[in-house]
Amino acid sequence: MSVASYTLSARLDAAAHKVSASGTIELYNYTQVPLREIYLHLYMNAFKNDRSLFLRSPFGAGRSGEHGTAWGYIDVERVFARELSAELWQAKTPGDVTDPEDETDVRVPLPTPLEPGKKLTLEVKFLVALPEIVERTGYVDDYHFVAQWFPKLARLMPDGSFAHFAFHPQSEFAANFGSYDVTLDVPASDVVGATGSCQALNAPPGRRVLRCRVEDVHDFAWTSWPHFEERSQRVGNVEVRVLTPPGNARNADVELDSVRFGLSHFGQRFGPYPYPSLTVVHPPVPAGNSGGMEYPTLITTGGPWFTPWTGARAIEAVTIHELGHQWFYGLLASDEQRFPFLDEGLNSYAEHSALAARYGVGSAFSGFGLSLSEEALARTFAAARGTDEPIAQGAGDFMSFRNLGAIVYSRTATLLSTLERVYGKPLLDQALADYAARARFRHPEPADFIEAVRGGLGDAAARNLSRALFERGSVDYLVRDVQSAASDPHAGVFDDGTGRRTVPRNEVRPPARWVGRAVVLRHGTLELPVQIELQFEDGSRQRRDWNGEGTRYIVSCEGPSPLVGVVVDPERRVLLDDDLTNNAAASLAQGAPRSLERLMYALQLLLSGGLP
Ligand SMILES: [Zn+2]
Repeated sequence: MSVASYTLSARLDAAAHKVSASGTIELYNYTQVPLREIYLHLYMNAFKNDRSLFLRSPFGAGRSGEHGTAWGYIDVERVFARELSAELWQAKTPGDVTDPEDETDVRVPLPTPLEPGKKLTLEVKFLVALPEIVERTGYVDDYHFVAQWFPKLARLMPDGSFAHFAFHPQSEFAANFGSYDVTLDVPASDVVGATGSCQALNAPPGRRVLRCRVEDVHDFAWTSWPHFEERSQRVGNVEVRVLTPPGNARNADVELDSVRFGLSHFGQRFGPYPYPSLTVVHPPVPAGNSGGMEYPTLITTGGPWFTPWTGARAIEAVTIHELGHQWFYGLLASDEQRFPFLDEGLNSYAEHSALAARYGVGSAFSGFGLSLSEEALARTFAAARGTDEPIAQGAGDFMSFRNLGAIVYSRTATLLSTLERVYGKPLLDQALADYAARARFRHPEPADFIEAVRGGLGDAAARNLSRALFERGSVDYLVRDVQSAASDPHAGVFDDGTGRRTVPRNEVRPPARWVGRAVVLRHGTLELPVQIELQFEDGSRQRRDWNGEGTRYIVSCEGPSPLVGVVVDPERRVLLDDDLTNNAAASLAQGAPRSLERLMYALQLLLSGGLP
């Protein structure tokens, strides 16, 4: 459904780093409620001064933590409502009256309500001064990356309210779907990358003019730089373009290759990529803060030219991650401000599992005889701060961007990897496929995701998921008190009908049978099914299943060999387990050699990054 559509013409003054633009914004009131006001986001004003919500923290905040140098802002000159024949801009007020210093969220009252089913056409004219890049948008020398650059309607919610919010340094975006028709006028020497599919138009001398169009998206970003090298290839129905700085041919190869893999892989898992174009922009290193970001049909990567030779799969990871956003951010369009985990968290899991499908245990790093998986890395990050705060909360509610990173990205991914390993990948794949199909173009909420998991994995899994998301639910399995003894103790003094008989202890051994006992405990509130492995002196092993309910499982056994050790979750399926080093214990009676065995277990965990 087209709710917010934009037709804009923008001219880049590359020397002044300014964009002057005009055009129309169409808002369709799809709700049942007359609209008496609208909200416009002017996110370029985040970079206007140190009093913006984005820059005001003296410590720096957000992804880069950098402060502004050359300021950026948007001056709106005109917002004229065509159907109402009224200039609206003079009546604007701050979107949040309690924070008048921030100029990124603006309320515009309508002189006449916009009735349900009606359309409002706003004629707009504005001038953007680009900042030197702090985060995502701006310029460095003659490189321009232009995002969050036009007056943008806040998302109109089904109840007739607007999900409007000042640009918070920890938050990303949310908007309605619509069509974009944007004409870009840049210096003739520039190479342009943009959302949508672009066609060259006639241009005056010294200029290049492109018209870029796309439907059913919710943002538009573009870049213009004379030094881009371009590579393009048709992948299925998609025209893929990769723009890289000179000297990055190997990065371009890796990015194109990753996109080829990802379009097909994600398309099979989450539904086909529906747009005719995809542009990958690799910013030059000095403009790295514009990299690693997603926009509809355009993603940015980044990294120095030599990255592919280091053994780290950083280029693959960033390309696959940003491509995955085409589904979770782009097509599903959950609210990144209220529930960033629905985008970044699910997408991080999608990234990790896609790279694992392609590269196995070396999905994050492979070289010098060592392998490291992205799952193992995420588990480590998640374990550090993962239970500080709930996963399912607003981007601005996290105490820092570090926490948001550990919890929204890594802990959500680790949670999903745990569900995958505990309940089975085919079931989780199906649940995610159902979620992605139902949520496409529909702005899903956490409940939609939990219901999809319930449908695929069952009530217990959905209960665990909900606790992990909303209640800081955690789990730690541990083994206590492994004991083994002869099953038939009978040394001592015995009186019977024939008189007194003393059995010396040394006559007891070797016994015919041994009994063993241990306690497996579950700390935390997540009740995940686990296996328990019993290890015996003769090298034999037994597995027990525990559904994870209740706080402990008593292991008891009897057999021909002493119980020497117990391991809970031997295949390490529960990646959320807070402490893996307490998952194994040796028999108390076994003494020093068994302590050594436990040390070896801990060492093995460390070397494998906690994973098999
Ligand atoms: Zn992301």
